[in-house]
Amino acid sequence: MEQQIQELRERANDAIKNSASTLKELDEVRVKFLGKKGELTALLRGMNQLTADERPKVGKLVNEARAEIEQLIAEKNSELKAKELETKLASEKIDVTLPGRKVHAGHLHPLTLTLNRVKEIFISMGYTVEEGPEVETDYYNFEALNLPKDHPARDMQDSFYITEDILLRTQTSPVQARTMQSHEPNTPIRMIAPGRVYRRDDYDASHSPMFTQVEGLVIDKGISFADLKGTLEDFSKKIFGEKTKIRLRPSFFPFTEPSTEIDVSCVMCHGEGCKVCQGSGWLEILGAGMVHPNVLKMSGYNPEEVSGFAFGMGIERIAMLTYGLDDMRLLYDNDVRFLNQF
Ligand SMILES: [Zn+2]
Repeated sequence: MEQQIQELRERANDAIKNSASTLKELDEVRVKFLGKKGELTALLRGMNQLTADERPKVGKLVNEARAEIEQLIAEKNSELKAKELETKLASEKIDVTLPGRKVHAGHLHPLTLTLNRVKEIFISMGYTVEEGPEVETDYYNFEALNLPKDHPARDMQDSFYITEDILLRTQTSPVQARTMQSHEPNTPIRMIAPGRVYRRDDYDASHSPMFTQVEGLVIDKGISFADLKGTLEDFSKKIFGEKTKIRLRPSFFPFTEPSTEIDVSCVMCHGEGCKVCQGSGWLEILGAGMVHPNVLKMSGYNPEEVSGFAFGMGIERIAMLTYGLDDMRLLYDNDVRFLNQF
């Protein structure tokens, strides 16, 4: 019996030290020797065949063997754990010399870039930037701008009506009336109103039912048509280049009198005539005029004391001209191959 125990100790010792190279293998060794069905337990069972004298002596030896094997397993266990941690750390080591993953930063949309540029120019001339609701009342969108319900010019702007009296604004002009009415009568105003507007329109290379407009309004004592012309000429040169010329053509808008269309010399051919300007050398860029006395009166201003001018332009058109785009839909398609170029 004693010899058996001695032999078991040696085999356990050898298995722990030499065979168990992973924690799993070590556990298998533990089960083999110390488990319920293990060899040491089997030895203990065999003790009832011993005489009463032998039992304590053998019992002591078995306990010593168990203690020794447990001790060896514990040591090997911490050794293996340390080794596994080391391997794990080595495999997860970060190579700081590897180039980093590129972060794809977004950027502003060409329409926003163009709008920001337009805003910058007018802010530098002392204008404020005003905003208003896109869902507007018939009163602000039309009536306060000298367009009563039966006015034929309403047909020029086919609208999206929500009710008889509420619609998606067809122009940013309502912001002009709203701003005038928020001021004391006859307070000088110098503002632009940028924003989205909506019209029942086709969706093709040069039309969209939703587009971006910037309107401007200047009111003060003694504002004349010369101020209008000077301001918009200055603006055109700043946005399209110093050599840009402007041309005024008589036009009609219900809220201005007199009214004018403003053309700029073609940004592509500089007046020579090309496909973009259809050979004329000129590009229509904005509408403007002196604020109609009725519009001033509607918002509590006195046309005998103050006068003003107003203008409006489409940001899509300016973006298309400055970036050389031939299809407006490119601005709404959200195709990153296109957008990445800006
Ligand atoms: Zn041209």
